[in-house]
Amino acid sequence: MASDFREVNPRRRTFLKKAAIAGAGTVAAAAGINAIAPIVMPEETVFETNRSYWSKALPPMNPALEENIDVDVAVIGGGFTGLSSAYYIRKNSPNKRVAVLEAKTCGNGASGRNGAMMLTMTDDRFMMWSGEPELDKRIYELTVGNIAALKEISAGAGMDCEIEQIGALQVCNTPEIAGEGKSYIERAREAGFPFEYWTKEQVSAALGTDAYAGGLFDPGSGQLHPGKLVGMWKAVAQSAGAEIYEGAAVVHVEEGRVHSLTIANGRTVRAKSLVIATNAYSSKLGYLRRAVAPVFDYVGITPPLDPRLIAEIGWKSRIPFNDSRTEVYYLGITRDNRIHIGGGPVDYSFNDGLSDRTDSARRYATIQRELGRIFPKLAGVDFETTWSGSVDMSLDGSPAVGVMGRFKNVFYGIGFSGHGVNLTSVFGRIIADLETNRGEQWNWLPFVNRLPPYIPNEPFRWLGIQVALDYYRRKDPVTP
Ligand SMILES: Cc1cc2nc3c(=O)[nH]c(=O)nc-3n(C[C@H](O)[C@H](O)[C@H](O)COP(=O)(O)OP(=O)(O)OC[C@H]3O[C@@H](n4cnc5c(N)ncnc54)[C@H](O)[C@@H]3O)c2cc1C
Repeated sequence: MASDFREVNPRRRTFLKKAAIAGAGTVAAAAGINAIAPIVMPEETVFETNRSYWSKALPPMNPALEENIDVDVAVIGGGFTGLSSAYYIRKNSPNKRVAVLEAKTCGNGASGRNGAMMLTMTDDRFMMWSGEPELDKRIYELTVGNIAALKEISAGAGMDCEIEQIGALQVCNTPEIAGEGKSYIERAREAGFPFEYWTKEQVSAALGTDAYAGGLFDPGSGQLHPGKLVGMWKAVAQSAGAEIYEGAAVVHVEEGRVHSLTIANGRTVRAKSLVIATNAYSSKLGYLRRAVAPVFDYVGITPPLDPRLIAEIGWKSRIPFNDSRTEVYYLGITRDNRIHIGGGPVDYSFNDGLSDRTDSARRYATIQRELGRIFPKLAGVDFETTWSGSVDMSLDGSPAVGVMGRFKNVFYGIGFSGHGVNLTSVFGRIIADLETNRGEQWNWLPFVNRLPPYIPNEPFRWLGIQVALDYYRRKDPVTP
């Protein structure tokens, strides 16, 4: 029988009252812990050296900043976002003094450590973002157009970034996912997307593996050499007149109408505008902690493989691919026939930790097993190099670009969530337009001037991520 509050006996009422007080107290305590966590548990700032295969192709390091300077725009971070922002800002405003400040060398972060997939704007499972076909198509075309821009800018600079726009496949791990994928592709084609559904046999003929039940083909995507792309952005930003200082870690930012930045060596940079292009490292400077959490992703690359072995494997198309798991695996092949595989189980270190993890060996063993599962002929092949990198994961897996700060002079691009090789320079353009008050043209884009959903501070952050990872590991099909 239902009872209303008046009928509750006094002992139970007292219990409920105490429980309500305890509940409210717990919420208040949790909110208090959440608020003070960043103050009592400051995050450790580390810039581990990039030991990826791509890093061998990074350009030589520029000198550090040895004097105090006044600039129009200071860009913190020398990855794709920072370098392309600097390039486009100088293109928009050739008279502005623009300085990029990079803690180590350009490309030391995710830009020099990634899986080399050059993707159109995608969602992890299916290649749509907003769910509105017309808007998604516009976003798709914007990102395909950016790949054309990458080709044009690198050709103009005479720099070969090994860009191959040969499409990319999202392969389906189970027949159920293949079924969902097929009906998605039918809808997408009706809406005018150029995507194709590939059967198990077609995937097998293109990739030389029977590990998948089907695939979603996007002809607009492809692959490139990330280290060479960093070199290209660095070169064109400098040719456009941007100054780039390396070994110039920013340790403090005093925001204002004119910002004052302190570099680790004590030098200062005063700047009217600031671009935060620090990706997974942003929270270390007190920025965008609520927007992203850094998760470790692992990659391994083989030595150059004998062309006869490649022929035996049967990866004839050389199309890069990623699978349909939440903890996604992605594979590509370089010009000199190295096969690289990344992804699988990711890790989060308490308090947004960025130090290389001591337990990473088991992750490399896992991806090596997965490589052997996909291509049994590679089962005994050791990786030549392995590395990890931090992905700036947003809660909804979607990126954000915009302007913030009391004086509306702090610009950011964040939350690429493992899809930034192409998208970062779209954001570089947008940041430049926002910085020069030409931003209205981007108002149609749903990720402009937004912030991703709120991620709480520690210890809730760590707990939430562990629960989510555990959930996805159980849900993801095919665990090697
Ligand atoms: C393992 C891995 C695989 C990936 N695979 C793919 C893929 O296949 N396809 C894809 O599209 N995307 C992929 N991504 C994501 C993609 O690499 C990123 O989205 C992109 O490189 C982000 O570029 P960025 O310039 O924003 O950040 P970053 O390249 O991380 O650059 C940030 C820079 O800021 C510097 N910095 C930080 N703090 C300071 C400071 N205080 N002072 C000065 N400098 C500072 C850092 O040293 C770093 O160089 C992957 C990422 C990882 C880690």
